[in-house]
Amino acid sequence: SLSPSCIIHPGRVRVSVRVRPRNGEELKSDADFADLVELQPEIKRLKLRKNNWNSESYRFDEVFTDTASQKRVYEGVAKPVVEGVLSGYNGTIMAYGQTGTGKTYTVGKIGKDDAAERGIMVRALEDILASASSASSVSVEISYLQLYMETIQDLLAPEKSNISINEDGKTGEVSVPGATLVNIQDLDHFFQVLQVGETNRHAANTKMNTESSRSHAILTVYVRRAMNEKAETGTKSPKPESLGDKGIPRVRKSKLLIVDLAGSERINKSGTDGHLIEEAKFINLSLTSLGKCINALAEGSSHIPTRDSKLTRLLRDSFGGSARTSLIITIGPSARYHAETTSTIMFGQRAM
Ligand code: ADP
Ligand code: MG
Repeated sequence: SLSPSCIIHPGRVRVSVRVRPRNGEELKSDADFADLVELQPEIKRLKLRKNNWNSESYRFDEVFTDTASQKRVYEGVAKPVVEGVLSGYNGTIMAYGQTGTGKTYTVGKIGKDDAAERGIMVRALEDILASASSASSVSVEISYLQLYMETIQDLLAPEKSNISINEDGKTGEVSVPGATLVNIQDLDHFFQVLQVGETNRHAANTKMNTESSRSHAILTVYVRRAMNEKAETGTKSPKPESLGDKGIPRVRKSKLLIVDLAGSERINKSGTDGHLIEEAKFINLSLTSLGKCINALAEGSSHIPTRDSKLTRLLRDSFGGSARTSLIITIGPSARYHAETTSTIMFGQRAM
């Protein structure tokens, strides 16, 4: 069970911060890489150095130092959202930060042969599959998409390169009808599928001559549970699944989106390469519109402006309302990235 601090109040974003360990280069030199941030995880506070004399303190829902394990990060960031999904609420988990600060390590690390290294996607599936195996009426399907320059590509079927988003006018349910859905049987199967997605992502980006840091990767986990009213009230039902009013099995559906966002670093729009300028515009568009939606949510606004980008249109029914949203911002430890780190921390603060 969860500690009270782990509860996500619907309509509110849970915001955590994680700092990456120093890499080889950063360890070599002390002077250039003086500490930029000081973390006080026990009081969930981060101090950001402004200059030699001043620092500013920020509070987060969870603060992870460079020694925090993948397991602890999962429990503090993702588990409450996953539990919501298992109870029938949609949820979103997103990693935001500068390229190289650990977004993919945090959410996407596969760690097939090293369980301690596994990231949020794998751990979430582990929990969801465990719950599904204890109930024969639960099905778990996934899609894995890449969003690049307002175009959605299917990472599980690379030939599908321009997938459209559909929104049900009545229910507001967002769907991506063209996307490949894979019914996941067990964790080994998920490792395989995730690996295929990763390989395709790499190939697609090589072909387009882009970096994966320029695109968003979106894993959607669809959980369907056939409702059994009799079983729920404690008596045994003779039928395998209960039937609704019109004789149709009643199914409770929920979904979990896990998003490895494009790098948040400011991309230079004044370059001479036309393609890069276009790319920068699109990345700025989706992250800016995500920021607007998150701010609106944090302010308790009843209007969340999701129309501006495909990223936020995809998220529309999975954050805000009764959905649970958790954002992890990732930062580097080096003072060299002062500007980017500050801007990442501000993005996180505005979400709270
Ligand atoms: P991003 O996806 O934000 O560009 P990555 O996840 O690829 O960043 O991380 C950059 C490098 O740092 C990778 O080699 C990754 O394995 C490593 N790394 C990031 N965070 C951690 C961490 N918490 N512990 C160990 N290695 C990490
Ligand atoms: Mg990455």
